[in-house]
Amino acid sequence: MADQQTQEKYAALALRTGVNLQKNQALMINAPIEGADFTKIVVRKAYEMGAKDVHINWVDDELTLLKYENAPDEVIENYPDWKVMLHDSYAEDGAAVLSIRSTNPDLLQNIDPTRVAKANKASAQAMSNFRKYTMNDKIAWSIISIPTGDWSQKIFPEKSREDAIASLWEAIVKIVRVDQDDPIAAWDAHNETLRIAREVLNKKNYKKLVYKAPGTDLEIELPEGHIWKGGSAESEGGVTFNPNMPTEEVFTLPHKYGVNGTVSSTKPLNYGGSLIDNFSLTFKDGKAVDFKAEQGEEILKHLLDADEGAPRLGEVALVPHESPVSQSGLIFYNTLFDENASCHIALGKAYPTNLEGGSAMDSVQLDKHGVNDSLIHVDFMIGSENLDIDGVKADGTTEAVFRNGTWALNIK
Ligand code: ZN
Ligand code: ZN
Repeated sequence: MADQQTQEKYAALALRTGVNLQKNQALMINAPIEGADFTKIVVRKAYEMGAKDVHINWVDDELTLLKYENAPDEVIENYPDWKVMLHDSYAEDGAAVLSIRSTNPDLLQNIDPTRVAKANKASAQAMSNFRKYTMNDKIAWSIISIPTGDWSQKIFPEKSREDAIASLWEAIVKIVRVDQDDPIAAWDAHNETLRIAREVLNKKNYKKLVYKAPGTDLEIELPEGHIWKGGSAESEGGVTFNPNMPTEEVFTLPHKYGVNGTVSSTKPLNYGGSLIDNFSLTFKDGKAVDFKAEQGEEILKHLLDADEGAPRLGEVALVPHESPVSQSGLIFYNTLFDENASCHIALGKAYPTNLEGGSAMDSVQLDKHGVNDSLIHVDFMIGSENLDIDGVKADGTTEAVFRNGTWALNIK
C-alpha cells in the first residue's frame, strides 16, 4: 500500500491535472471496489475543490466474471438503457469523468470469446453517444490506475499478494511523478515537453511514416490536415485536462485507406480481460487482410470482425523507448501503461480532434478525409529498441524520425 500522504497527492493530481475539476462541476468516477479507500480520498478532495455532485460507478472483477459465467445470452448481449442514460445525463451536464482502470488481465481467459465480443459490441453500440463526449473532448476526462491484487500478482507472480500490490504502487507512483515534491508542477513541465514535440511534428507535416523493425515493414500515410496531439488536451469549455495518466505519447491519425505492409506486436495486449500476444497484422490499402497470434488469435479475430472500421487504423503514436514506463522494465498487461512504454497504433476509431475541423465533420466528411470510424479503439504496442521510423514529406524527401526506438528528430 502506498501511504496515506502519497495517495492524497495522487488523488489531488488526478483531480487537478487529470480532469481539472472546476467549482460547481459534477464528477463521475468509474472505480474498482478494491480501490474504495483511494476512491473515497478522491471523492473527499473533489468536494473540497467545490464539486457539486460526485457519482461512482463501482466495478468488481469477481462480479464481472460471475455475470459472464452465469447470465443468459440475452443479458450479455444487451447493454441496459439506464446505464446509457446515466452516462449521457452526466455528460450533458458537463461533468468530468475519471476512470480508474485496474482489471485483472486474465479475468476472462476461460470465457467464450464470442460471448465477450458480443458484450463488448453491445456496450460500444449503446455508449456511442457518450463516447462522442470523450473522443471529441466535449468534456474533461481522465484515465488513471491503482493497483489491485490480481493485477499486481500478474505483474509480480513470484511475490505475495500484499508485496505485489506494494511493488505496483511503488512503480505507478514513480511513473505518474507522484514521488516528486510537486507532482502538479512536474506534470506542467512534462506537458510542455510533449507540446514542443507535437509542434515539431505538426511543422514537418509528413505525408507518410515508414516503420522498420524485426517483423515490421509498414507504411502509414497521414491524411492532409492531420494534427499531432499529446499531453494535455482542451475541452470544448476551454478547460485543460490530461486524458491519460501516465502519458508519454504524441499521436495523430493514419489515413484509413493508406496503410500498407506488416507490423508485429512487441508487448502483450490486454483486451477487456483477455490477452493477445506475439501477433502480427498485414495491411493492404488500410485494411488488415491477414493476421496471426501465438496467444489469443480467436480474440484478435473477433476484434477485427467487430465492424467495418475495426480492421483499419485510427491512431499512430510515438513514444521513445526510454520513457519512464519503459524504464520500469515491467510489462503491465494494461494498455494505459504499456502503450506509454512503446510506439503504438490503434485499430478502430480515430479521434476526430486529430484532424483540422474534424470535430465538426459528419461521418461522410470524416471518411472522405481518411478518418476511420468504428465501435472499437484498441491500442497495441509495436515499439522496441529495434524500431526505426522515417518521415516522408510531400516533396518525397525522407528523414529519420526514430532510430533504435527513440527520437532521431530534434524535438527540443
Ligand atoms: Zn495512444
Ligand atoms: Zn489510443
